[in-house]
Amino acid sequence: MDKIKQVAIIGGVHGNEFTGIYLIKQYQAKPELISRSSFTSRCVWANPQAHHANKRYLHSDLNRQFKNVDLANPALTNYEQSRAKVLNAELGPKGAAKTDLLIDLHNTTSNMGACLILTQAGPFYNQLAAYVKMVMPEAIISCDEDHFAAEDHALMCTLGRYGVLVEVGPQPQSVLRHDVLELMDSMTRHILDFVELYNTDSVPALPKQTEAFRYLYSIKLPMNEHGERLGMVHKNVQDKDYQPINPGDPIFKLFDGAEIYYEGEQTVYPTFINEAAYYDNNLAMSLNEKVLITLE
Ligand SMILES: [Zn+2]
Repeated sequence: MDKIKQVAIIGGVHGNEFTGIYLIKQYQAKPELISRSSFTSRCVWANPQAHHANKRYLHSDLNRQFKNVDLANPALTNYEQSRAKVLNAELGPKGAAKTDLLIDLHNTTSNMGACLILTQAGPFYNQLAAYVKMVMPEAIISCDEDHFAAEDHALMCTLGRYGVLVEVGPQPQSVLRHDVLELMDSMTRHILDFVELYNTDSVPALPKQTEAFRYLYSIKLPMNEHGERLGMVHKNVQDKDYQPINPGDPIFKLFDGAEIYYEGEQTVYPTFINEAAYYDNNLAMSLNEKVLITLE
């Protein structure tokens, strides 16, 4: 029987996403909040230096450093690349990790609510998703490139034997919102409750089908050949994460007054709309399809 014995809750992978940092402080002050009988849990502050600098990262994005090939590359030595190797030694090593479940806490500036992001597929994740959605109906389940092997994923959550990302917004960078912290706390503790039920063979009857969103691709802001932005996210789309975009709907407003329309052939569901952290890459939003997670 598969058992989860070691759980790690990670805050502050991104230094200007405050909720996870403050939430793990609360958990460290009151360990009973994250204690359960069948496993041990610990909290880890992943990137204190970036937080002290009030930045997402110092040299490169820590949450893009966890591919096996990069962890094994001694030439990658900037601050976050080194930090990833330390975290891998402490919580991993990836592929044979002492951490059975890694819960990585993040904020988004987008209006995404409480989102459970799964980067791997399988029965454990399917049951977890069904449970979280059942006990927390406002939760969004997101499947993000779960067809990739863990070793090819760059995200910190793939360091654990199992790993999930809890992404909650909207919250501006370097700000704490009460409602966002409550949602993150609630989702995290539901995950821990599920693990306790899973370990003790006590998972209740779960819905056979659970709605989820599967990542398709990201789209960029309109740009000219010099890399200058020509427009912005359309007001009809702003803050409408998970609301359908249909072929022909306006998605960008250009500074010259023109509108750009969605030209795909299927209805899609946007996330990370106008996310502040993605402006350096000119990413405007990610597009998803709606799917069902089905239990046997
Ligand atoms: Zn983040």
